[in-house]
Amino acid sequence: MDGTSILIIDDDPGLRKTLADILRAKGHDPLTAGSGGEGIALVQERHVNLVLIDLGLPDLTGIEVLDMVKSARPATEAIILTGNATLDSAIEATNRGAFSYLQKPYDIEQLLLHIQRALEKQRAEEQILRHGAELERTNAELKALYEVSVVLSRSFDMHELLSEVMQALAGAGIFPFEIRGAIFLMEGGKLHLASFISVSETMLTPCENIRMGECLCGTAAATGEIGIVGNFIEDGRHPRCNPGMAPYGRIIVPLKANDAVVGLLSLYTEPDVEVTGEMVKLLSSIGGQVGVAISNARLYEETKSSSLHDPLTGLANRRFLEVQLEKCIESARRYDRPLSVIMLDIDHFKRYNDSHGHVEGDRLLARIAAILLKDMRNADHVFRYGGEEFLAILPDTGAAMASEAAERLRKAVEAEAGVTISLGVASYRKTMEDKESLIRSADEALYRAKGSGRNRVELAG
Ligand code: GH3
Ligand code: MG
Ligand code: MG
Repeated sequence: MDGTSILIIDDDPGLRKTLADILRAKGHDPLTAGSGGEGIALVQERHVNLVLIDLGLPDLTGIEVLDMVKSARPATEAIILTGNATLDSAIEATNRGAFSYLQKPYDIEQLLLHIQRALEKQRAEEQILRHGAELERTNAELKALYEVSVVLSRSFDMHELLSEVMQALAGAGIFPFEIRGAIFLMEGGKLHLASFISVSETMLTPCENIRMGECLCGTAAATGEIGIVGNFIEDGRHPRCNPGMAPYGRIIVPLKANDAVVGLLSLYTEPDVEVTGEMVKLLSSIGGQVGVAISNARLYEETKSSSLHDPLTGLANRRFLEVQLEKCIESARRYDRPLSVIMLDIDHFKRYNDSHGHVEGDRLLARIAAILLKDMRNADHVFRYGGEEFLAILPDTGAAMASEAAERLRKAVEAEAGVTISLGVASYRKTMEDKESLIRSADEALYRAKGSGRNRVELAG
């Protein structure tokens, strides 16, 4: 058999030894105890599948031993061994959870049969208990993931983000840390403290400006792997540390977006807590979620700055278009909503430049951008796609409505800017492979508009 552990509690040393020898010969792993107290102690400190309890013990009654075994290890089975005098107690014992009883002198083959059955039941029960515990844990983990995702969808501010993430994690009750921690962000290859909770800034300053690969935080940032420190004060891997602090542990979770580390979440624990593989897995996926939220929040900030904006027209540029279009397509796909884009290009702009000068050409570009912004809905997004080309994304808009919108723009530009534009309209279809296909369709339609005499709208497909 598979070395299941069976405890024999009997005050008769001869019986103990005989039974132990037989069980060992059958491949079991027998333990023996000469008294009830000794038996209970063994059950508490060892994993015991089955207890054979002699009812006539010197210190405790067999019933008392059974009750204590069951309350210490509910999944442990018990078989009662009894003489004639205690038959009533043996029956009572089965009513209180013993698997069965046998009267002494028992037939050894019969005892082995009882043992086999009791072990089968015990294994099944243990499995059920384990399963229940797993379910409970999975539920708690799912709850933690869910709560973090809810938090992330509404926080843009970094401190609020940290605080809410910490609350959600602590609320899930499966992590061994307190609501104490910090977020570091990766900027220019170094880590910068972005936010902290219940930790003094002096405690964190040694970690400021750490480079990739340097110290534990830098290592977590460089490898993308979670760093676990049982005792921060004693851990030699962390040279940058404040002396004279009470011992504590840390879990360093890299925050990732598109496989790049954008920051670290540093969590504080009691010293030397156990961090299981499951927790590490869960924290990694949370690190991914928080990382994406941070990179979105940053992008959002950046859109207000020049890197994603075209200074001449004030419109978002092509780089931002990539991000925005991706999001719009994702949402159209998920909610099965229409989505269209309009690509437009000034007619004979070269001529305009040649006759009015480049500066006037620039002014015209800005004027057209203003007309586009004014004439499009708030939900639409307008970008400067290239030199004198613009692109508009129209969420929730099918081809017919988008063509009407394009026609309206054409007329408005002609009337208000004194030049004409050509426009190509394309609508998203689920069969399209990527955003480039949608842009290409609009571009082809625009090319046809140019070819058919300019100052007109063409619809793709
Ligand atoms: P078409 O009707 O076929 O579009 O002719 P076009 O002259 O508008 O197109 P073409 O592509 O031949 O020329 C585009 C011109 O736009 C050439 C370029 O100098 C000008 N241009 C591109 N970016 C800017 C800019 O930022 N400012 C100014 N003033 N001109 C620009
Ligand atoms: Mg042009
Ligand atoms: Mg052009």
